[in-house]
Amino acid sequence: MVNSYRIASIPADGIGPEVVDSAIEVVEKLAQTLKTFTIEFTHIPWGTAYYKETGRYVDKNVLEILQGFDAALFGSVGAPDVPDHISLWGLLLAIRGPLQLYANVRPVRIFPGTQSPLRHADEGDIDWILVRENSEGEYCGQGGRSHLGQVWEAATEVALFTYVGIERIMRFAFETAQSRPRKLLTVVTKSNAMRNGMVLWDEVAAIVAKDFPDVRWDKMLVDAMTVRMVNNPKSLDTIVGTNLHMDILSDLAAALAGSIGVAPSSNLDPTRKNPSLFEPVHGSAFDITGKGVANPVATIWSAAEMLSWLGEKAAAKVLMDSVENVCRKNILTPDLGGNASTKDVTRAVCDEIETLG
Ligand code: ATP
Ligand code: MG
Repeated sequence: MVNSYRIASIPADGIGPEVVDSAIEVVEKLAQTLKTFTIEFTHIPWGTAYYKETGRYVDKNVLEILQGFDAALFGSVGAPDVPDHISLWGLLLAIRGPLQLYANVRPVRIFPGTQSPLRHADEGDIDWILVRENSEGEYCGQGGRSHLGQVWEAATEVALFTYVGIERIMRFAFETAQSRPRKLLTVVTKSNAMRNGMVLWDEVAAIVAKDFPDVRWDKMLVDAMTVRMVNNPKSLDTIVGTNLHMDILSDLAAALAGSIGVAPSSNLDPTRKNPSLFEPVHGSAFDITGKGVANPVATIWSAAEMLSWLGEKAAAKVLMDSVENVCRKNILTPDLGGNASTKDVTRAVCDEIETLG
């Protein structure tokens, strides 16, 4: 008996459909080649076109629908004619919230055959796991505006931190660090300037750390962290921080590793009560939509993370080895300095799977 998986595919907007199609093609190829699992993707049409038709980005019973799947593979959301905060809250945050996907995991490394913009960084020098708190903090959505239209108009943007919210992400981050060879965790805050929530982060980190005596950990202020990521990337391994801080640092990390086009992410419910959601870090990238040059590696790697989360670790490894071989052969999209198309990369990965599988 082989395991069977049902996956919701939500390609949504911009280059989302191009890169999700690519990832589905390689994962189906992987399943056919290895024969160790079966997988079935079901298309869900949520996104900006759906919003324009129905007035909603997702169906009302989003939780019920997604609970019928083992995981979801997502593309990107956002359109030039819809304000970003409407599309983002309408789709992605409407899924993350009810599913309680509180851990956002973003692995970052320099791929073979690709170049970091850092002169002193080679393959292996950047090999990080960024853990982003995904359910509260600066993106809790609380706040308000007053005196609309007046020169003294004012707005508040609340960052909400709870002990429970911090504790669960911190524990997940320590476990992640513990599972890696270097057992090294850096906790990012801004507790010099923000004296409530950020100080609570520091305190909870110290409490949780007691349960992980084998993990070396340190604290960094987010501003100093940007400098360390650039100047001393080798000193870092697993990194944990708030929703806003890691949103920014993970884009920096992706750029340092070569391109945002290779950066994957997992939105996990570590309790495994709900299906988790996997997506590239990049957005809908309208400047290249429809041109056939979007880098599919971020989404393919996200699909590999999905397989790994579902328990298909050997299959995930074959998939990532295939992607690495393709990069080594210099079959790269323009964002990585090559001239291959999305389809060229997809086909090359399928060929590698056949060779390795
Ligand atoms: P969003 O508003 O949804 O975040 P965006 O327009 O800000 O989307 P991003 O997706 O964040 O764009 O990407 C920023 C830039 O990086 C884009 O201009 C795009 O050209 C490039 N880029 C992003 N993803 C890819 C990819 N998969 N392949 C190639 N280039 C990419
Ligand atoms: Mg963006």
